[in-house]
Amino acid sequence: MKRLLILGGTGDAVRLANLAIDLPGLVAITSLAGRTSAPKSLVGDVRSGGFGGEAGLVKYLQTEQIDLLIDATHPFAAQMSRTAATAATTVGIPRLMLLRPGWTRSPEDKWIEVESVEAAVQVIPASAQRIFITIGRQQLAPFATLTDKWCLMRSIDPPDPRISLPPGKLLLDRGPFHLEGERELLREYQIQAIVSKNSGGDATYAKIIAARELGLPVIMVRRPMVPDGEIVTDVAGAVEWLIDRLSIRFG
Ligand code: NAP
Repeated sequence: MKRLLILGGTGDAVRLANLAIDLPGLVAITSLAGRTSAPKSLVGDVRSGGFGGEAGLVKYLQTEQIDLLIDATHPFAAQMSRTAATAATTVGIPRLMLLRPGWTRSPEDKWIEVESVEAAVQVIPASAQRIFITIGRQQLAPFATLTDKWCLMRSIDPPDPRISLPPGKLLLDRGPFHLEGERELLREYQIQAIVSKNSGGDATYAKIIAARELGLPVIMVRRPMVPDGEIVTDVAGAVEWLIDRLSIRFG
């Protein structure tokens, strides 16, 4: 049996684990950061919590005798992806990134693209008083300076209570989100601008369509750099990579 470590935290990682379990000769372990209080149920073996940086991941890969590594983390989990790249090189095992494509701007979109969440705070239009912040709960602190705005902040779990937040409301909810609901939300809260990461995928795209329909600006945080290496953009590609690796290396 060969052993696969999937770095998870995304719907694609869940789908990959579901398919990997049926591949003969393969044991799949999914690793979660352990941030979400009730993560989606996963098939196969699951571990949770950080590894302790590059040295910790190297040790884990060696101790658990991992043969193959698929980094299926969120496109904004840049630290984990960097660590995965260097640790896989150190141990000498193949690594693949499963990275769904980013959203592309339509001519009707009013995007203001920025490099970071901190930069997003700086470019919120002065005319927009009611802001929908949809970047999760971990990077809300920079928005605390928006004391003259009202912010609707959506995340799966509540933010750390020690973090200062701008005036507004927390909305705890988990995607997928649908267009009708997103339209209604923007209208109900009279939203005038949205802050989003360019996460890609379908599960959270409806807000972008709803913003387009309503002519709202979207402050779009660009994706971080990805480490060099093999990349596929969908789960089917990752399964093909696995089949290829299993038959070429071990068949
Ligand atoms: P990050 O900044 O890249 O990682 C920070 C640290 O969290 C890593 O150095 C690692 O700790 C630990 N970690 C991250 N992913 C892990 C995994 N799959 N298994 C074990 N440890 C992991 O990541 P993040 O942005 O905080 O995201 C954390 C998790 O949430 C990821 O699994 C990601 O896929 C998921 N997620 C992130 C976002 C987002 O917008 N960033 C959105 C949706 C889901 P050690 O150094 O101790 O190993």
